[in-house]
Amino acid sequence: MGALMVRCPQTGKDFASGIETDPLSFELTPAFSGTIRCPLCGVDHQWSKIDAWVAEDAPSPSSAAAWSAPHPSPLPDGEREPA
Ligand SMILES: [Zn+2]
Repeated sequence: MGALMVRCPQTGKDFASGIETDPLSFELTPAFSGTIRCPLCGVDHQWSKIDAWVAEDAPSPSSAAAWSAPHPSPLPDGEREPA
């Protein structure tokens, strides 16, 4: 599985559409078009199948979220080891 990527026409940078697919499945997907909210410039862009591609090596949203997960609560003061 990979992230379905789109290019922002405003910034020229790529961003993940939030859709997970694989190259073969995407190839078999009928042509589509619509709008997508761009995380780079914050506006809705028109996009269609020909604008998108599958990035198999992109980090998945779930693994990216793991990096920002909150740390476990620190030990209470009484159990902290002396410096
Ligand atoms: Zn954009």
